[in-house]
Amino acid sequence: MSPNEKFKISRDDIIVGGILGEGFFGEVHSGVYKTQTGEKLSVAIKTCKNCSADVMEKFLSEAGVMKNLDHPHIVRLIGVVEVDPVWIVMELYQLGELGNYLLEQQYTLATTTLLLYCLQICKALAYLEGLNMVHRDIAVRNILVATPQCVKLGDFGLSRYIEEEEYYTASASRLPIKWMAPESINFRRFTTASDVWMFGVCVWEIFSTAQQPFFWLDNCQVIDQLESGVRLPKPQLCPPTLYSLMSSCWSYEPNSRPKFSHLACSFRREQDVKPEWEHK
Ligand code: ATP
Repeated sequence: MSPNEKFKISRDDIIVGGILGEGFFGEVHSGVYKTQTGEKLSVAIKTCKNCSADVMEKFLSEAGVMKNLDHPHIVRLIGVVEVDPVWIVMELYQLGELGNYLLEQQYTLATTTLLLYCLQICKALAYLEGLNMVHRDIAVRNILVATPQCVKLGDFGLSRYIEEEEYYTASASRLPIKWMAPESINFRRFTTASDVWMFGVCVWEIFSTAQQPFFWLDNCQVIDQLESGVRLPKPQLCPPTLYSLMSSCWSYEPNSRPKFSHLACSFRREQDVKPEWEHK
């Protein structure tokens, strides 16, 4: 069965619930999906408001990417209702966006748990690297919390395969400047190395209770600061060894940044040495 066939589902098998949030294309609802075997799955249903043929193609591109992904720390696509109104149906992660969760749980989350989240996202990104895929929007707003010990990378709306070309040149204006590598801001150049930069910013968010990176600057000031060597400061909760790891993701030269596989090993090591600086 082709991936397209495999993910085709019928609206009749879905019961729509309340609104979870507003996506770029339309509301996202919770719901229940009854599988072919009769199993009932909790799902999130992405809808598309003004779905002209043009918009529909962009809306469905995220599902097109997700059909080929299978990883414990990546949001799982359940299926697509291809008949108008088109729906994208994903596994539901009850605890919602990591950014909000970090804020709500800021007094209970241990440093080891924060490190676990970083390691899980790093593994998801190492997996994408192996598929020659760049994500381009790595941030806590795009990570969902499945359980207190398990997070999932989502929002593949900007992700692209890079195949023969070794980088992807973005045309969209909807770019998250404060998370982006200098070459992405200057030349809209996106590679696995620019994903590594963004991952470093995401680790900074995780250890900064989801504060916005460079919240003290305007978008247009960020590139000047980066060019002159300024980087995000060490978050208070962040152990120095971890800060030096995230700083290595912010080497100006893309080739000098570490690989995700190397970063994953370093995060594992950080977890092993945790008792020295565990604060909670
Ligand atoms: P944007 O591109 O602006 O981020 P989007 O179209 O990608 O928007 P999402 O941010 O993925 O939409 O979804 C909107 C909201 O729906 C999110 O804030 C999140 O809380 C909720 N949501 C999306 N997918 C899920 C899911 N699988 N489980 C639980 N909640 C979800």
